[in-house]
Amino acid sequence: MDKLTRRDVIVATAAGGVAAATTAQGATFGNPDMPPQGAINTEGNPSSTTIIGPNNPALSSQFPGALSPPPTDVGSMPMFWASFNNAPRRIQNGGWARQVTQADFQISEEIAGVNMRLTRGGIREMHWHVFAEWAFVTKGSCRITTIDDQGRANVEDVSEGGLWYFPPGLPHSLQGIGEDGCEFILCFDNGRASEFDTLLINEWFAHTPPEVLALNFGVPAESFAKIPLHDLYIFQGAVPGPIEQDQAEAQGNAGPPRLRSSFPLIDLPPAKKTKGGEVRIADSSNFPISKNIAAALVRIHPKGMREMHWHPNSDEWLYIIEGEGELTVFETGPNAVTQNFNAGDVGYVKRSQGHYLRNTGLKDLVYLEVFRSSYFSDVSLSDWITHTPRAMVRQTLNVTDETIERFPVGKPVILPV
Ligand code: MN
Ligand code: MN
Repeated sequence: MDKLTRRDVIVATAAGGVAAATTAQGATFGNPDMPPQGAINTEGNPSSTTIIGPNNPALSSQFPGALSPPPTDVGSMPMFWASFNNAPRRIQNGGWARQVTQADFQISEEIAGVNMRLTRGGIREMHWHVFAEWAFVTKGSCRITTIDDQGRANVEDVSEGGLWYFPPGLPHSLQGIGEDGCEFILCFDNGRASEFDTLLINEWFAHTPPEVLALNFGVPAESFAKIPLHDLYIFQGAVPGPIEQDQAEAQGNAGPPRLRSSFPLIDLPPAKKTKGGEVRIADSSNFPISKNIAAALVRIHPKGMREMHWHPNSDEWLYIIEGEGELTVFETGPNAVTQNFNAGDVGYVKRSQGHYLRNTGLKDLVYLEVFRSSYFSDVSLSDWITHTPRAMVRQTLNVTDETIERFPVGKPVILPV
């Protein structure tokens, strides 16, 4: 065997007097000896890595992690990258919508994502669906209306950085009210849910005999002579008046709702703030109506990293709001695969798979982690190691106690601390 083993490399490097910090580069450690995978094995044979067939550099250059995986990557994994950037847009007068569901993105079993824009006054038709709906407003602001099964109605305005949540089956409407309307991300708590498959109020009216409508609403059938005979889905409406007026009109004898439907996530103090960035968390502990979705809004400064961790309670659906990042996922096998993400891209990590996300850009990386769970939960690799008896760690990882003593204390969440 003429390949250097990992141990040979470390020993040789140490003997050569190179600083330990240099040896801690992935390229130096290379791949473990088996399997012989990765560009590190092609030294002296550069043709091994060239692409000489058809190629679309504009696209492939966005994926350096896939095109030239880090030497430590190994094996393969179901695709965990998708994007709204190439999702067909359903465009109507008043806005548009596009989605990434499990039909497009096989791994995304627990969450389906929708990206929608509404103009100022633009309306998403009154509707409902069997799935819970969670949303994050990325631009502008939106007025939401809903009612619970006790007849208690909510009308709320949700601005940039804010969330809303509609429990499964409860009806609602959305309307852009910002200077330029709004744009937002919706998550349904099921990967198979489709935004284009919801129960629309106009479709029910159009497909109900007029005499039934007359009986149901206690007015002459002729009152419904001009109802739309097809769905409106998204349409341009008039900008609504003051919210107090809408709330007064909507509220009936049942009184106000017990729980608010919206939550100003961006106004929360960070749950954790380090030199590397900050994280805000919203789940049913601070946004009590959100029983099926928990989320984290993460900001990572340049060169920073969301620490090596995993989520024991549910899969992670992630959405890049700004910046660029590189996500590596670790799974049994071993398999370790890296993918690159830009604004508008979607990632997915299965429950308990190890992962970390590095900011590979020159600006802050801002993204959402979304979970089908009532609570946010993660396990930090360094937190675990620093809370395991030293002898256990020393014998397992073959690192010194002095090294372990320098590890971050507690969950760093975002590095550097
Ligand atoms: Mn909806
Ligand atoms: Mn995560």
